[in-house]
Formats: sequence, C-alpha cells, structure tokens
Amino acid sequence: MLIVLTTDVTPQAQKAVEDRVRELGFTPHAIEGAGRTAIGITGNKGPVDPGHFRLMEGVADCIPVTAPYKLVSREVKHEDTVVDVAGVPIGGREIVVMAGPCAVESEQQILAAARGVRKSGASLLRGGAFKPRTSPYDFQGLRQKGLELLEKARGETGLKVVTEVKDTETLPLVAESADLLQIGARNMQNFSLLEAVGDLRKPVLLKRGMSSTIKELLMAAEYIVSRGNKQVILCERGIRTFETMTRNTLDLNAVPMLKAHSHLPVVVDPSHGIGIRSAVLPMARAAIAAGADGLIIEVHPDPDRALSDGMQSLDLPRFEVLMREIEKIASAVGRSLHRITA
Ligand code: PEP
Ligand code: MN
Repeated sequence: MLIVLTTDVTPQAQKAVEDRVRELGFTPHAIEGAGRTAIGITGNKGPVDPGHFRLMEGVADCIPVTAPYKLVSREVKHEDTVVDVAGVPIGGREIVVMAGPCAVESEQQILAAARGVRKSGASLLRGGAFKPRTSPYDFQGLRQKGLELLEKARGETGLKVVTEVKDTETLPLVAESADLLQIGARNMQNFSLLEAVGDLRKPVLLKRGMSSTIKELLMAAEYIVSRGNKQVILCERGIRTFETMTRNTLDLNAVPMLKAHSHLPVVVDPSHGIGIRSAVLPMARAAIAAGADGLIIEVHPDPDRALSDGMQSLDLPRFEVLMREIEKIASAVGRSLHRITA
C-alpha cells in the first residue's frame, strides 16, 4: 500500500505514520514526489488495512499497490527518477552515453579509449576490471590494476566511471573506484550481490539477465531499492532467443514496458544486444527513438586486437559517427545529449 501524505504534512506527523507502519511489523519507505511525499510499505504478506492510517494527521490517501515490484513501480512513484552519477543526471531530458572497451587491458588502451570517447561526447567511461567470462581460460580482467587505470583515465578526462562488480568479496574495492556499479547479466539474480549493493548509497546499473523476463528485472531492482538504495538504472542488453544470426536479440520492447511500469531510468546496450560491429549504430538509433535514457557502447581503439568482445566493439571514428547520429535522433524525440563540462 501507498500512504499519500498531504502537501503541508509536518515532520512529526510523517514520523508518526512511519512509526505506525513499524508497529505493524512492516517497513516504511519515504518516496519524495514533485509536490508531495508518500510512504510505501514493504514486508506485508497480504493487503494492509487502510483503516490503520486513514484518520492520522497528514494522511491524504491510502492506495493499494498491485504490482509485486512495489518501490520501483510507477504506481508508487509517478515521476521519473533521475539518478545522479557523480553529477551526471540519468533519467531526465538528456541522453547520457557511456562508452569504452569491454575490458581494461592496458594503460595505453584505456587512456586512448577515454580520450577518444570524451572528445566525441560520452559522459561515462566503461571498462571491466573484473570480467565474468564464459570460459575460465579467457582474459579475466586486470582486476585491481584495472580499477587504478580507470581512476587514472577519470582523472585525466573528467569522465565518470562505470565498471562491473562481479561478487560481494570484491564489492568494497570496486565501489571505491566506480561512480556507477554495473551488475552484469550473469548476476542479475545473484541476490546476495543485489542486497549488498542495496546497502550502499552508490548508483547501480542493473543489466537484464539473458534469459530473464522484464518482470524479473524489475523484481531484481526491487531487491536493491528495498534495502534503501534508490539509485538504480535498468539496462536492456539483449536476450537469448532462437535467433542465431545475432549474438542476442535486443528486446527494445523492454524500453516502453519498463518506462510504463517503473519510474527508474532505462539504458540500452546495443553492443551486447546484437553483437555485430556494423549493426550497433542502427540499434543505438532505435533505442533512443524508443525512449531510452542512455546508451552503453563498447568502443576500443583497436577492436581487432581486443581481448574481449572485439567483434562488437566500435573503433573511435565509428563511435564519433554514432554520437552524431544519436544527437539527431535525440533532437527528433525532444531530447538532447548530455555533455560533461569539467
Ligand atoms: C559487459 O558489459 O561487458 C558485459 C559482460 O555485459 P553483460 O553482463 O550484459 O553480458
Ligand atoms: Mn563485453
């Protein structure tokens, strides 16, 4: 249930409502809207009796919430959530582009990628330091050294850093370096990891599992938000289907569905979504046209020599073309490209 408070509610009256929720054995979550605050309730097994709250001071309305994912649903919060990633707003009018290699490979590689994507207008640098690879014999990432190199690239270019956190053991280390913590497709239902990032107050980019439904993605986001971390960005990165000509099937249906059912920002990863370098640009255009709030794109200064995902990585000139194209689509749908100023 959602308890909508009056616009002139006093802090004491709000606290009394929250205390009543706790007395009933549930957890209150304050949700700030544009004009008013509401209190979401979690921990209840069935419907909560509105009679507990209806006559309390400062209560305007009690609304039942039907979605199983409560706190991330539009029912509970009507306005779009804008996640602040170290000063870069994601989920507002501006489109945010994150770009960089699949994995950090060397100082020279990450600095060349960072300088190039910054010049073309990206706001965040991507790059895996801890890589969850399908084969144990494949490059697993530079780990701590990779994080140090990302920090160096951020220091030089001003780009914010998004990097994957693979497990709870390395979370403290990764959280120290990252501005945005990426949870990969393979970990979307790693519930201990979801709970651990839910206990932090750092933005999270949650990628859709390759065989997960849209509802399961929203339930995974709910794990994070229900622990108090409201800064979650959803990412569509393609799903497994019967199609074999492409690496995955980029499910752009997910963009309007997620937008309709949740207030969280939605970013699309066309690189993993299609897996073919020459096809990344049209799918990136389509994602923005479909209403995505941003893109995450794999870019490598020398894609043919990349240690992972080279076949879907753009070189720097191709990325520059993509950014120009994205800008056109953004303006056609009434949006613009975010550019960092620092
Ligand atoms: C990645 O971003 O490089 C990655 C491993 O993505 P995903 O988790 O979507 O496969
Ligand atoms: Mn990759």
